[in-house]
Amino acid sequence: MPKLVKPRGVLVAGNWKMNHGPKAAHAFLSELAQALASTHSAKPPAGLRAAVLTPAVTLSAALQAVQEHPTLQGWLQVGAQNAHHEPSGAYTGELSGPLLREIGIGLALVGHSERRQLFGETDETAGQRLSSLLHQGFQVIFCVGETLGQRQAKATAKTVLGQLEWAHRVAAARREPWDASRLIIAYEPVWAIGTGLTATPGQAQEVHALIRGWLEGKGLGQTPVLYGGSVTPENFAGLLECPDVDGGLVGGASLKSASFLKLIETGAQAI
Ligand code: PEP
Repeated sequence: MPKLVKPRGVLVAGNWKMNHGPKAAHAFLSELAQALASTHSAKPPAGLRAAVLTPAVTLSAALQAVQEHPTLQGWLQVGAQNAHHEPSGAYTGELSGPLLREIGIGLALVGHSERRQLFGETDETAGQRLSSLLHQGFQVIFCVGETLGQRQAKATAKTVLGQLEWAHRVAAARREPWDASRLIIAYEPVWAIGTGLTATPGQAQEVHALIRGWLEGKGLGQTPVLYGGSVTPENFAGLLECPDVDGGLVGGASLKSASFLKLIETGAQAI
């Protein structure tokens, strides 16, 4: 067996945000399946995984589309963009782990900077959501990242490691130790999200190496760390050359199937 160049494989996760209803998702995934089937490798290589994080109303249709296309099964997951830490209750507008499980979802994004900046989520609430969902058996992509002001104040390491440390303490207080096999970290510099400004591979690697060191110190060495922030088919290969970048969390460039396919192909070439 040839050794994987990327020891933790590569994950390409598309964050669709408030885009793509059920019809658009079905069309997107059908186009992706057809494009894959018409290439010489109908399925990406072992170690390559993909996910689409859809609006809540789209989850079932996206799952259905994956079921209809065998070429997508086993490597492309459908996930939610957030979920509350409580299993049920008076939390208008929220989704919970058990509600997601009921429709077959086992992956969720937590702590995205848009949730933190626009919807008042904090290190504490993001940490609660992360530990609760991991404890319920979900795979969770947990976002951390600094603002431009924090970077300019040379507080990137302090901010990012502080967010991880806070969430880790929340898990300890809740007696919900993290399971490294289901945890995924996404480093997303806030100044790079949706701005067209991407961290250079050097800037990304510097922070990813810090995160990897922190994870290893906690016995969570197998956890993949994705980079997010204006990833495109053009800049993804350079980012994947960084030894500690294990994939991408992609917003804008994940919205068109052709662009998402290019990201997947780039991920496959990095393995
Ligand atoms: C994101 O939403 O997580 C993101 C990285 O968006 P974009 O790729 O558009 O910057």
